[in-house]
Amino acid sequence: MKQGVDIYVCGAQSWPMSQTIFSTALGEAARYEGSTKALADKLHVPENTLGRWMSGKAEMPLRAFYKLLDLIAQHERKPQASSGSLDIASAGMLSFKIAHALAQCPQCGESEFARADPAQPLKLASRLRCVSCGAEVIHRALITQFAEQVSFHSRRHAGAKHKAA
Ligand SMILES: [Zn+2]
Repeated sequence: MKQGVDIYVCGAQSWPMSQTIFSTALGEAARYEGSTKALADKLHVPENTLGRWMSGKAEMPLRAFYKLLDLIAQHERKPQASSGSLDIASAGMLSFKIAHALAQCPQCGESEFARADPAQPLKLASRLRCVSCGAEVIHRALITQFAEQVSFHSRRHAGAKHKAA
């Protein structure tokens, strides 16, 4: 007799694979600002540049990412933002993606997190807990550090190519 294969496992899979920390944050901020045009104005970039960042066709510069996090943090401090903003994988595990990389736990290197307080909406100021080792990290610190790491590696990569040419 054939054993049933468990294909109903979801959890981390509820996070769409195309979704990166940049596209997630940009999508949320565009919602607060009312439109992508309004967000593009706030970030001082043309709307088509913003569109490329949102679709992942171009990597968002760190400076623009910091500015974006500031906009989201400002919004989160408003009382009506109580529903939570970056609450995409509300039930399951959280992972944070840029291109093909995932943010890793600073303690153990695993890349699945859960909210430290599952009753609270996910905000930049939220504490996250590593699913593997239980280490806690602030959401904003984790994604900021991760964006810096990825940007550092891609810059080094670009630099090496440039030298070789
Ligand atoms: Zn860990």
